[in-house]
Amino acid sequence: MSATAPGAAPAAPAAKKRRAALDPKYADNRGVWVLVEHERGQVHPVSWELMGQGRKLADALEVELTAILIAPPGEVTQGFCREAFAYGADRCRLVADPLLADYRNQPYTHALTELVRSHKPEILLLGATTQGRDLAGSVATTLETGLTADCTRLEVDLEGRTLLSSRPTFGGSLMCTIVNHKTRPQMATVRPRVMPMPEHREGREGPVEVSALGLTEDQIATKLVEFIPDQDRNQPQLAFADFIVAGGRGLGSADNFAQLTALARTIGAEVGASRAAVHAGWAEPERQVGQSGKTVRPKLYIAAGISGAVQHRVGMEGSDLVLAINTDPLAPIFQIANYGLVGNALELLPALERAFQKKLAQLRAARQAAATERPAKTGEGDSTHA
Ligand SMILES: Cc1cc2nc3c(=O)[nH]c(=O)nc-3n(C[C@H](O)[C@H](O)[C@H](O)COP(=O)(O)OP(=O)(O)OC[C@H]3O[C@@H](n4cnc5c(N)ncnc54)[C@H](O)[C@@H]3O)c2cc1C
Repeated sequence: MSATAPGAAPAAPAAKKRRAALDPKYADNRGVWVLVEHERGQVHPVSWELMGQGRKLADALEVELTAILIAPPGEVTQGFCREAFAYGADRCRLVADPLLADYRNQPYTHALTELVRSHKPEILLLGATTQGRDLAGSVATTLETGLTADCTRLEVDLEGRTLLSSRPTFGGSLMCTIVNHKTRPQMATVRPRVMPMPEHREGREGPVEVSALGLTEDQIATKLVEFIPDQDRNQPQLAFADFIVAGGRGLGSADNFAQLTALARTIGAEVGASRAAVHAGWAEPERQVGQSGKTVRPKLYIAAGISGAVQHRVGMEGSDLVLAINTDPLAPIFQIANYGLVGNALELLPALERAFQKKLAQLRAARQAAATERPAKTGEGDSTHA
């Protein structure tokens, strides 16, 4: 393991000189695999984000990128395979069985470990979701291989064909790069929204290889008795929001924090918060952005009264555009902001809201004018033609 300051490029593995040798039984392991996670007929988007990253690793290593599906047979699953190809997979390996309709650790672990034993990949990636974390741990321990959880960057060292898995450590104050020289596959989980979505290329195709699960229901210890949907399904979808207005301790009170909601409503944004704001009780825990909260990747992230501690930054530095508002011109958030407003957020937030409202009203008026003009023009054209 090697460590660097957050934001810096990962250090070359310091352990080069005392590198453990690869166990010869793994010498022929080749290929990058990405598990396509699905639930209730939907693929988790992190799987496609990983497919994009897997494509880069596979290209660097000059090997195939394989999508792994553990699912019931049927058209929905076939659709998942087509999507996997569109997002960059070269091949799809499918373990198909009606027993795999709902996630259960034991049959999924069995399916994935058997696939690995038969086809010997060198890298296996999963989403750091509830399901992915559960499965990755049991697969890694069953196969007795290494697993790096919650990675934020994945690269390869071509010399040893080793995966360089980087992730925050020591409470987010350092980034460490973890390598596994001895065993294969090298496993890693990555949090949703850390990697960008790859291009979707409709019509891309590849082979689908289907294998059987090889288990019967009476061999599976856990039973799914009933599916109870999450009561909080309407909770904020921060991780997938295009616009986020986030507030921190600098806003001073719950009432002031509520000012964010007005701006958020105007621009159709979700409200985010620093941990300090969540701890103060101004925002719900599911709105926390950062190392122990959500990782977000919006087009616009407005940070008001947030200092920009590293534990907050790791959760939002993938944003396309950051606008920071802070009274302190030396606040660390300005180091990563594209635009900075030095001043009191309690005055600047309402001013921003008014400015956005004015601009949006202008845009709406222009759009309406264009819409009313178009049929009139068509009418003119028709009559001339007649
Ligand atoms: C293991 C660990 C995990 C953590 N995980 C997270 C995490 O997931 N997310 C997270 O956010 N933090 C996390 N933290 C906490 C993090 O270290 C910081 O303490 C926290 O982010 C600070 O929140 P803040 O920026 O709102 O508050 P502060 O650091 O107190 O900053 C407040 C800022 O507001 C500015 N300000 C004051 N008044 C105004 C005003 N009127 N207008 C504009 N600006 C003003 C100040 O200049 C200051 O920069 C974690 C810490 C640890 C140790």
